[in-house]
Amino acid sequence: MDFQNSFDHFVFDLDGVIYSGEKTIGDSPRVLETLRKNKKGIRFITNNPSRSPSDYAEKLSKLGIESYDSEFVTSPMATVSLIKEKTPSEKWKTVFIMGSDYLKNEVRRTGLVELYGENSLGADLVVMGSHPEFNLEEIKTASIAIGNGAGFIGTNADYFYPCEHGRAPATGALLASVEAASGKKAVTAGKPERYMFDLLEESGVAPTKKTLLVGDSLSTDVAGGKKAGYSTALVLSGVTKKTDLGNNEITPDFILENISFLLGSRQGTDHK
Ligand SMILES: [Mg+2]
Repeated sequence: MDFQNSFDHFVFDLDGVIYSGEKTIGDSPRVLETLRKNKKGIRFITNNPSRSPSDYAEKLSKLGIESYDSEFVTSPMATVSLIKEKTPSEKWKTVFIMGSDYLKNEVRRTGLVELYGENSLGADLVVMGSHPEFNLEEIKTASIAIGNGAGFIGTNADYFYPCEHGRAPATGALLASVEAASGKKAVTAGKPERYMFDLLEESGVAPTKKTLLVGDSLSTDVAGGKKAGYSTALVLSGVTKKTDLGNNEITPDFILENISFLLGSRQGTDHK
């Protein structure tokens, strides 16, 4: 039995699976091309809150991979779902947003009124996603608003992402600074929470074992995929190394060196 014939949909995390920085991993362009030729459903999910689907489609295109905006589910999209779900009971009307322009545009779709400057201190809700201009003034505004009773939502809980020189802070690390200052914990929307998987289901991806999630993180990708009812494959080309597997209670169905192994046989990859 091979992977391609076992699944109808393939859901890929991006960083550490398809590419690392500006380089493809394994032969990811050929894997995607082959799956597409064989009429498999393809989706991409990412917790990175700074880029839009069209940004990602452009990036993949430069790497020689065809994709469509509608195939991407991002943590800002999940954040919109979470805000819409909670707004009626929390009676939120105003929001202070710290994050990329893409995150801001997404959050504005919820209908909440965005506040700026001193007015932000009285916001009903604070939404945070990491962005390159993150600064102390933003942490201060967010901490005071939350201390004054604002709701607190983060796009994702990841503490770090791997960069060329080591571990760099991601949204979770930035949330932690505001959590420490305000004494309140953020609710997060990205993987492994259900919001991205709900969006995938709305887009036609069945929450069954006929869907294979391929990710490099046990705690976000594999945990989220398992909760959604998917089959899961961990690739060892990103944040998880073989030595991390021993004691982890989150167990993927398959463990692969990298994405290229999806074109081979399932034999010898079953983890259970
Ligand atoms: Mg990843």
